Amino acid sequence: MTSPASGASGAPDLPDYAPIPRSALGPALNDQGYYVGRVERNLYWVTDGVYQSAFLTTPDGVVLFDAPPSIGGNLRRAVDEIAAANGVTNTVTHLVYSHHHADHGAASSLFGGDVIRIGHEETRRLLLRDGDPSRPVPEVTFADRYTLEVGGERVELAWHGSNHSPDNIYIHFPGHDTLMFIDVVNAGWVPIYNLNLSEDVIGYMGAPAIALSYPWTHFIPGHLGRLATRDDVAVHQAYIADIEASSREALASVNPVPYYVAGGENAWAGVKGHLDAVTERAAAPIIAKYTGVLAAADIEVFTLTTTFQIMQSLRLDRGPSGPVHP
Ligand SMILES: [Zn+2]
Repeated sequence: MTSPASGASGAPDLPDYAPIPRSALGPALNDQGYYVGRVERNLYWVTDGVYQSAFLTTPDGVVLFDAPPSIGGNLRRAVDEIAAANGVTNTVTHLVYSHHHADHGAASSLFGGDVIRIGHEETRRLLLRDGDPSRPVPEVTFADRYTLEVGGERVELAWHGSNHSPDNIYIHFPGHDTLMFIDVVNAGWVPIYNLNLSEDVIGYMGAPAIALSYPWTHFIPGHLGRLATRDDVAVHQAYIADIEASSREALASVNPVPYYVAGGENAWAGVKGHLDAVTERAAAPIIAKYTGVLAAADIEVFTLTTTFQIMQSLRLDRGPSGPVHP
């Protein structure tokens, strides 16, 4: 392990970033480090300020949606608090996985072996592959759609293709005017590295439009400290569309030849020089435009790596990757 240089306080010295817009922040956490709030009726969300989870209380049991380890035991406390306040059972009977990633599911095992776990069939396959005892595999799986009915409530699960991960699903609560869709849009914040660590660039870029095609007012995005609105999704779409347009402009305007000439027999030096120049040219106006609009937009490496991924996808997925040799 390495540690960054520390100042007098012992905390690492970080660059002097732009202030976080107040609108990007959520409600204060309690002494145990969580906030639980009502989304609508008997649907609740929980946050530790960075990760989010949700649960539905019903007369027949509680349905949990994701179990991020950073919230961990506070999920149990949040469910107990709400169940006690409303005089309903606190027994967790079902757990839905949004996708297979550990950072959203590794508190699953805290809820024992009797819980019915539900997920996409690819989530099951990936969890079997990864063999992590903290994420028991879902025994109920589906390919495209699944309607979950518990205690008179209905939740519609759907898979519309790969995006952030191959198995990331849309969780619609038609009776609660809510959509839960994880790791694509961060409410009020830029995506972190490489489009929020996403595997499928084209799928990731198209996913917000699919999310908006559902009727909802409340959006549970998985990050960070508050819920999102339809406007938040639109700002995210504009950020990504601006990166795409800027990448096209930069690809067309940066002449690769001098970089390859300078690289000589080191072909990879030429590739790096060219693609770094395209990435920096494409990302610079985006960082300037969104600083103060999306929180942490001035953390350059996030927009640079996201721009690099989109620019590469424009070349490799959509094409052309370059001129055809005569
Ligand atoms: Zn993820």
